[in-house]
Amino acid sequence: MRRAMLVAAALVLAGAAQAVEKAAFTPAETAAAERIRPEAIRAHTRALADDLLEGRGTASRGERLAQLYIVAQMERLGLQPAAPAGGWLQPLEVVGITSRSPETIRLRAGSGEGIDLRAREDFVAFSGVAEPEARVAGTEVVFAGYGIVAPEYGWDDYKGTDVKGKVVLLMNNDPEDDPQLFAGKTRLYYGRWDYKYETAARQGAAGAILIHTTPSAGYPWTVVQSSWSGEQFTLPHEGGPQLQVAAWATEEASRRIATLGGQDLDALRAAAQKRGFTAVPLGVTLDAALVNEVRRKSTANVLGRLPGSDPALSREAVIYTAHYDHLGMKDDAKPGEDAIFNGARDNASGVAAMLEVAQAMASLSPAPRRSVYFVAAAAEEQGLLGSQYLTAHPPMPLGRVALNVNIDEMNVWGRTRDLIMIGLGKSSVDDWVQAIAEMQGRHVVPDASPDKGFFYRSDQFPLAKAGVPAAYFEAGTEILGQPAGFGEQKKKEYDDRDYHQPSDELRPDWDLSGAAEDTRFFFYLGLQAANAPAMPVWRPGDEFEAARKKSLADAASLP
Ligand SMILES: [Zn+2]
Repeated sequence: MRRAMLVAAALVLAGAAQAVEKAAFTPAETAAAERIRPEAIRAHTRALADDLLEGRGTASRGERLAQLYIVAQMERLGLQPAAPAGGWLQPLEVVGITSRSPETIRLRAGSGEGIDLRAREDFVAFSGVAEPEARVAGTEVVFAGYGIVAPEYGWDDYKGTDVKGKVVLLMNNDPEDDPQLFAGKTRLYYGRWDYKYETAARQGAAGAILIHTTPSAGYPWTVVQSSWSGEQFTLPHEGGPQLQVAAWATEEASRRIATLGGQDLDALRAAAQKRGFTAVPLGVTLDAALVNEVRRKSTANVLGRLPGSDPALSREAVIYTAHYDHLGMKDDAKPGEDAIFNGARDNASGVAAMLEVAQAMASLSPAPRRSVYFVAAAAEEQGLLGSQYLTAHPPMPLGRVALNVNIDEMNVWGRTRDLIMIGLGKSSVDDWVQAIAEMQGRHVVPDASPDKGFFYRSDQFPLAKAGVPAAYFEAGTEILGQPAGFGEQKKKEYDDRDYHQPSDELRPDWDLSGAAEDTRFFFYLGLQAANAPAMPVWRPGDEFEAARKKSLADAASLP
């Protein structure tokens, strides 16, 4: 009861418009939350991160074992199979493309002058198409600033310029200087490389070259070189425009391209800082041909559902997501070396937490008013592919999804005073988040590096991009009973030593009391969204508000 009263008080303090209508948690709901136990999180993690599952690589035998384990747990809890075509598994195909680029690519000016750029040193290029070859030949290059089209900011770098069949040369990130534009220093989706390529394709461009600088990328050129070498994964193309060639070039190489066209790169970039900038054709053409090896693999998302108890609201839903895939086995392990990427924290622990949320949720009688979906997502490590597919083929219209709570990497270092919310400030979900944290005697803090764009790098992102309000958290760092800096140090140790390494294993010294508390938090948050009279909304002007309006309208037009 005490908890319930605290929630009500906190909601009033948060000053939300609907505060008085929001339900407080009942003793039965609190009791359900208390069923979430650290021992159970450990047990699920133990099973999913075992060597027998061989790192849960996409399309591997270990992945099928993980699916089996998750399905068995969901079935045991009394969830219903919820894949759109029936059953527990939503099959999907992923396409792996290995591009071989020529040692040099050539750019020519009208004068007949030309320059050669060297693969890896000056540029990296990969294919936008899953075909044996991708090519641009004699294709004109246009400098198109940031390559951003954002009606809500009155910004359009492509305005008045036809880039159909051309190659665009683009700056990374988004304009930073004006806090009123593109959230100031925070990197929005407009500032990410994937947005740049996607938008260039939508404009009909045949190719796009991103200008690399360390500040605008957030990482050095060596990271570009290593990330874009080897096999790249994507979903099969389902229609719509595609780039032939997507590339990055160093700042120096980009400068040479501009100079070849008689332009100064710094002057071009300065002009592109201003609204009203017009793209500049460089009078330069590019020839590049990539030879591709294309492989197709089959995987699946796992979907379970707890049907809602309210006759009207049960058509709507809350979706929990946690990716269950990891990196599989190390190809180049030396004899005797640990070759299994167990992914215990990333993300066996998150699936474990989601199963505990499901356990608590399924114990409620009556069930929450809206339906609750639990999705163990596939192929996250290959580029959020399972969640992308889920978003394109959802079990219900996305305009009827109240909230997505994504769980990735649990806290394994003990209870915390804080919880980090990635994307705090984007939607009305904040009010619930603050109130529930307060009820737990904790506080919510924003992401310390909003320029890194973490919101766009995890499974809630595809859903958010399609308009679904989303919540994604990171473990807090203020650990109870530990000296200041302990939590930060543990996180850093994990990032330096274990992240995406075979050493990400279940350890006897893990303290999952904080994971259990965070899992209860995820339970309360989903429950709040499942029972609230109205669905949460993006803050006015948020980058995803327009997509939400469209999906709400689409859902409203359905029977
Ligand atoms: Zn992960």
